[in-house]
Amino acid sequence: MLLNKLIRLPVFFCVKNVCRHMGHKPDFTMNNYNVERGYYNYPQEQHLLFFKQLLGERVVTDLSDLEKYNVDWFLTYRGSSSVVLRPKSTEEVSQILEYCNKNKLAVCPQGGNTSVVGGSVPVFDEIILSTELMDDIIEIDPTAGTVICQAGCILENLNNRLSEEGLIAPVDLGAKGSCHIGGNVATNAGGKRLLRYGNLHGNVLGLEVVKANGEIIDSLATLKKNNTGFHIKNLFIGSEGTLGLITKVALLCPTLPKSVNVAFLGCQNYERVLQTLKKSKEDLGEILSAFEVMDADSIDLLERETHIKSPIGKYPFYVLIETSGSNEAHDGEKVSQFLDSSLETDLVVNGTVTNEPTKVEAIWSIREKIPDGIRQCGYSYSYDVTLPLTSFFQIVDDTKTHFGKQADVVCGFGHLGDGNLHLIVTAHSYDKQFKESLEAFVIKKTLDLRGSISAEHGMGFQKAKYLNLVNSKGPFNMMKELKRIMDPNRILNPYKVFP
Ligand code: FAD
Repeated sequence: MLLNKLIRLPVFFCVKNVCRHMGHKPDFTMNNYNVERGYYNYPQEQHLLFFKQLLGERVVTDLSDLEKYNVDWFLTYRGSSSVVLRPKSTEEVSQILEYCNKNKLAVCPQGGNTSVVGGSVPVFDEIILSTELMDDIIEIDPTAGTVICQAGCILENLNNRLSEEGLIAPVDLGAKGSCHIGGNVATNAGGKRLLRYGNLHGNVLGLEVVKANGEIIDSLATLKKNNTGFHIKNLFIGSEGTLGLITKVALLCPTLPKSVNVAFLGCQNYERVLQTLKKSKEDLGEILSAFEVMDADSIDLLERETHIKSPIGKYPFYVLIETSGSNEAHDGEKVSQFLDSSLETDLVVNGTVTNEPTKVEAIWSIREKIPDGIRQCGYSYSYDVTLPLTSFFQIVDDTKTHFGKQADVVCGFGHLGDGNLHLIVTAHSYDKQFKESLEAFVIKKTLDLRGSISAEHGMGFQKAKYLNLVNSKGPFNMMKELKRIMDPNRILNPYKVFP
């Protein structure tokens, strides 16, 4: 049986926690990008006194401790904040924001600090308000499939706790070991489960949020149907910390699947990848839960920079398919038939498939650890775009051709099932001129192809200057108006999202 041939292939086990490469430190964002500081007050002794009276030891001012809050995960952006506040409750967040608003102190909300667009770190000396101590899981209802928790719950911890009740979080991503559910909501994170469960606008049932002036907005319903006026929660999903600080989240949680299969497959060209996608939707139907793609350069980079290897040798393209269902025999048979006929028709040329939990995790690591490999490379430029499926990899090829030897590696991978590509260019060091011409090239290409310049990472600092370019006048003006109403002093996450 062809399926047996697939199963026989070994899965190489991966390093679970790749340690942070601290070989290089980015230069300060304000210098790299020539940003002008806003008219905010500088944090001073009397402000610190207030924060210390409120939070005691939970005020971080020690230089060596501040570093990890000032620098982003990809080591691309760096702020110079001298104060990190670590509240535990909504009331503390409320008092902090009320005080900062009155004293015109800028605030940078921070969750797990895994933002890829420089949204979570300050640009100057903004006070960092970290939700890392707000990690209570308040209530789980296994029958309704809902959870209420504080915003600072680490996604993986939340998911583990939910699985004890027979549920899973509706969102999952490679940064799960660090990112917070509040950060996920604030960025409207996509990730690998979006194909199956949809985006967070559908799965967030309610939110508790603190406005810039300290007012607490309780919109924390757990009802699936609730048409009693405007859906206020939706305003904050994807608002990237510019409209309010999310303190609690109510989520709709799918049932923990009883059967999960993951296949890692090699394809000879992109056309075959697309045909495999179509076939997987037709053959796997309701059990298909993820469809990811990686090009050869992504896997080469991963292999070079980490200990992780492709378990099936080298191919121009790799596909990772996951199914989640409730009946092992039924799902196994469907997967087996799909793989057999994909091999017979040469859509895929090799692969490995498993339903053993540790091996499932190991295969997912191949896809999820590519960012770790990228981080080891030195400096990287990362673009998260949505493109029509037919031209998905065209931008990768065009970037290679256009920039030639100026780039070390140009590679692409992403959530093909959602049309979401991560285009990565690595270089040994930051080069302003190169960055500017690369960015202009990628933005123009994406717009020419009628794509979106932000699929799931948000605008952050990186794309703020394009907000008016990618939105027509009506929505752009409405965003500005909402910002004026919600945060008239513009203390919340300045220099982000808005140009
Ligand atoms: P942070 O990075 O701390 O903050 C992100 C933004 O949200 C900032 O603007 C911040 O100010 C704001 N914010 C954070 N918490 C709050 C809050 N409580 N209230 C208001 N605003 C807040 N993203 C995806 O969508 N899909 C992926 O598959 C994916 N994979 C990734 C893989 C890796 C290895 C890495 C490093 C990142 C990945 N990302 C992905 C990007 C990132 O993980 C997501 O954007 C994530 O949702 C950010 O969560 P966080 O808690 O780290 O937020």
